[in-house]
Amino acid sequence: MTSSSSATRTAIVTGAARGIGRGIAERLAADGLDVAVADLPGMGEELSEVAAGIEKTGRRALAVHADVTSKEQTDELVEEVAGRFGRVDVYVANAGIARVTPLLETGLDEFEQVMAVNLRGVFLSYQAAARQMIAQGGGGKIIGAASIVAYRPFALLGAYSASKWGVRGLTQAAAMEWARHGITVNAYCPGIVGTDMWDLIDERLAEAEGLQKGRAIKKYAEAIALGRVEEPADVASFVSYLASPDSDYMTGQSVMIDGGIQFS
Ligand code: NAD
Repeated sequence: MTSSSSATRTAIVTGAARGIGRGIAERLAADGLDVAVADLPGMGEELSEVAAGIEKTGRRALAVHADVTSKEQTDELVEEVAGRFGRVDVYVANAGIARVTPLLETGLDEFEQVMAVNLRGVFLSYQAAARQMIAQGGGGKIIGAASIVAYRPFALLGAYSASKWGVRGLTQAAAMEWARHGITVNAYCPGIVGTDMWDLIDERLAEAEGLQKGRAIKKYAEAIALGRVEEPADVASFVSYLASPDSDYMTGQSVMIDGGIQFS
């Protein structure tokens, strides 16, 4: 069983108002999928812009406000998209947040906030997506946002690293459980992508390491074998593969797409 059908395939991308999520949504639309983009209500304007851009390419788009930490909102997102598009073939659980804090200064609130978006959000997304895919007869592509820190945690990114390590574990377990329904589950592990998230990490890392703002990204960029900071399109082209029938024999993987980062 594969996720392909003669009808136009459809996708949901969370955290799609900007950054990597936006890049993925635009790439999937360029691949010919109808795409629902979801983000927090505070990102409404940016989200509408992304949806309008997709519609201009001739694909159907839907902008939905949904907080992935909420089971209710995540379930409603899938219901709304299935209602409007008829089915959900691809779900990209991309939404995430980063916090840069030494572990001994990480309060319980901050730890739980990071876990709520990055791990509970992915768990709720995976569940809602799989339920819909099974109900519509099986087949489908579930894709999660992990990170290089799912293999090699960074100092000062303890909660974030733990959450992404969790996404890797969840992805493997989900892949094993849902294979019999023809659903594949994989995750992408970007390195250093030039987005608003990295700007925040850069500012905090630079502060912590006594560097000027903008220096931390330069320092980390020097460790990238391919010699440049990653762009959302670099991640999106890999997600395009994971979302396509070309990856039908691949499941349970969390794959580094990081330009070859080698820290000394
Ligand atoms: P970003 O901060 O630029 O964008 C993240 C988007 O997610 C924002 O639009 C934000 O509003 C949304 N979001 C946050 N909390 C949400 C919630 N509760 N519900 C719904 N939407 C929510 O980040 P990015 O750099 O584009 O990162 C996207 C994903 O890739 C994240 O999961 C991140 O952890 C991961 N990642 C990023 C990098 C990087 O270097 N930027 C590296 C590895 C992994």
